[in-house]
Amino acid sequence: MNIHEYQAKELLEKYGVAVPKGIPAMSVGEAVQAAKDLGDIPLYVVKAQIHAGGRGAGHFTDNPSGKGGVRLCKTIDEVKDAAEAMMGKVLVTKQTGPEGKEVQRLYVTDGVDIDKEYYCSVVLDRGTSKVTFMVSTEGGMEIEEVAHENPDAIVRVAIDPVAGMTDEDAKAVAAGLKFDAAKTEKAIPFFKNLYKMYIELDASIVEINPLITVGDDVMALDAKINFDPNALYRHADVAALRDETEEDENEKIAADNELSYVRLDGNIGCMVNGAGLAMSTMDIIKLKGGEPANFLDVGGGATAARVTTAFKIILSDENVKGILVNIFGGIMKCDVIAEGVIAAAKEVNLSVPLVVRLEGTNVEKGKELMANSGLPIIAADDLEDAATKVVQATREALAA
Ligand code: ADP
Ligand code: MG
Repeated sequence: MNIHEYQAKELLEKYGVAVPKGIPAMSVGEAVQAAKDLGDIPLYVVKAQIHAGGRGAGHFTDNPSGKGGVRLCKTIDEVKDAAEAMMGKVLVTKQTGPEGKEVQRLYVTDGVDIDKEYYCSVVLDRGTSKVTFMVSTEGGMEIEEVAHENPDAIVRVAIDPVAGMTDEDAKAVAAGLKFDAAKTEKAIPFFKNLYKMYIELDASIVEINPLITVGDDVMALDAKINFDPNALYRHADVAALRDETEEDENEKIAADNELSYVRLDGNIGCMVNGAGLAMSTMDIIKLKGGEPANFLDVGGGATAARVTTAFKIILSDENVKGILVNIFGGIMKCDVIAEGVIAAAKEVNLSVPLVVRLEGTNVEKGKELMANSGLPIIAADDLEDAATKVVQATREALAA
């Protein structure tokens, strides 16, 4: 689960990680009031709050050549102009996709006289099973580009899960940023508190880009935090920060129905039981020259109704030009899946080719139901056959 920058900064502040002063605003009026409340300062920064980065370099759809979603303002009047230019408008960044995101919240914050921008993130490295700091002196810009063009500019420090983050670890992170002794002194509590927050709140990613220095002080100027959704039940205060308007409608419906759904860019919809099988289904589709439109795991104990919901979610994506249902009936019985698929296909007037591969418990019963359904279902014998058939059928559907 993702949260907004202003919410992330409130959490950071609670944990003693330095951030500039700031106040969220839900309207232009509130933004002006927020600036007044920050007091008579030389520089205000008005920042669009959306669940995507790259706001500074982005643009608004009503003014494509204008400024982006991070604006420096010298006066309260400029704050008002900036807020008006952003609130309710659609901001397009490298991370939003071309459709952009509507800005419904702003953050008015203290403008900082930055000496230098750095990159810092905390992630779980699944290779070493350790929470790992990734830092770079190449901050502010896109870290993906740094990783690609200059991978040596990223320094990794893995934290021992039993010992926790020590002063030595924090010094190693500071050394990765080439901090001198005075900055390192300030950076030790900064990094240790960041680690404490990551662990205590069950975060999956904390990204500070940029982390900045002003004199010897170290501060988080931007903040992105992702939380492990499986741990939200023990953090009601974090769960309350969820902003559903930022989430993909289908991913929301899927979550409410205990389906794991992630939308992708391809055109072959997939419905599979089990995350591992779903991954290999996507792999084999690609191997056969196709592109999956989604990852969808209906889980072990899905009902016919849940399968129907899953089917509708897949079909609501207009890029989908073919569907592959790949089910191994273990806990899940093949005839239940078949019933769900048939019910859904009838309900939505299925208009794209549908390939079904069933195997396991009650497979004969499932196949019989499909064959007698009167629907043009393409039956497949095994996974390879299924992938070949769905790629072929999707190609034909696109050509038609
Ligand atoms: P995004 O990553 O979405 O573009 P950031 O918060 O990283 O948004 O802001 C982009 C850039 O704007 C920063 O790299 C920094 O140069 C500048 N900036 C952001 N916040 C402030 C601030 N409070 N004071 C001064 N400059 C800022
Ligand atoms: Mg940033």
